[in-house]
Amino acid sequence: MYAAEKTCFHPSWIEINLMQLQKNMAIIRGLIGKSLYCLPIKANAYGHGLYPVARAAVENGIDYLAVAHLQEGILLREKGISTPILVLGAIHEDQILDLIAYNLEFTISSKFKADLVASKCEKYKKTCRIHMEVDTGMQRTGVRPITAVSLFAHLKKMPYVEVVGVYSHFAKGGEVGEKQLSDFTLLTERLLLNEKRPILRHIANSLGVTHFPLSYFDMVRPSILTFGYVEKDAPKIFQELRPCFSLKSRISYFKVVEKGQGISYNHTFVTKKRTRIVTIPIGYGDGYLRALSNKGEVLIRGKRFPIVGSICMDQLMCDIGDNEAYVGDEVVLIGKQGDEEISLREIASLTNTIDYEILCLFNNRIPRIYL
Ligand SMILES: *Cc1c(COP(=O)(O)O)cnc(C)c1O
Repeated sequence: MYAAEKTCFHPSWIEINLMQLQKNMAIIRGLIGKSLYCLPIKANAYGHGLYPVARAAVENGIDYLAVAHLQEGILLREKGISTPILVLGAIHEDQILDLIAYNLEFTISSKFKADLVASKCEKYKKTCRIHMEVDTGMQRTGVRPITAVSLFAHLKKMPYVEVVGVYSHFAKGGEVGEKQLSDFTLLTERLLLNEKRPILRHIANSLGVTHFPLSYFDMVRPSILTFGYVEKDAPKIFQELRPCFSLKSRISYFKVVEKGQGISYNHTFVTKKRTRIVTIPIGYGDGYLRALSNKGEVLIRGKRFPIVGSICMDQLMCDIGDNEAYVGDEVVLIGKQGDEEISLREIASLTNTIDYEILCLFNNRIPRIYL
């Protein structure tokens, strides 16, 4: 645990089990053969904490880190991380010098950006390391396969530009993914035919790692999988991975409420009988979605209890019926307690979103505690 991240600052906390994270990494490492392991840690490492996750990954021998933006890369370099870092997002002209100064590899997906980069590099006599992104079906960033060949040739001619990799990104599994994979395979075979130096080909995100073993190439980029979230239809070996993220709090107040009483703002819940209501000091101001009002459940003393009434900015209420619970008891909002578990997927499906988004919602108001 880091001294600056004690629970006393906030009555709720996120627990990150770095040992579990490293176990997950070891399992994935065992399955990807000789491919390099790149861990994308954009968006505060999917809410797990950018630097602590980077440090744990580096200690565990990660080959590459990836981020979405320059600013995330700078943060890691300033904290002393020296592992190769790839910036995945599109870059801006005024970021080029910082990208180079901080020794960050970045993505090029158009001739326009390539020329901007080349002219900056020439002017300052600095070499940059880039990966060319090819769009095989996302329609987001990336050069189309038909123009990839000429852009690649163009990049190779630039004296201050070193092409380190060529990559793409899966939009979907199934037949679409198969087609993306075969397009990428054919294209990179053609691109690298006369290439003497090794160039990293990479396309596999978590979906690629679990569903397309032929997508591993020279490097894989599984993130949500590393954090322990596995699709139900993934092969059995992957089912050993476990989440390392839990959201916890403590009961801050207890009261007995008579039948027919409305709870919280607008009284969206009315008690049907005399019951016990406990207050938990977490709310949408921390990133715990208000959409879970009258829907979500929490664990107290190993049992599930419903959230009743509207979730407030900093607090929410639970109906524990005739059960016993006291101020100070631990509450689990995401994760395990005893034999019960509230999964991230459960929270995501109750709020019509995906597990990725729920993880990203928790802001820095809630301390992360590292085990
Ligand atoms: C975020 C990201 C990944 C990781 O995706 P997961 O689905 O979490 O494995 C891989 N590649 C790129 C380009 C990304 O933006």
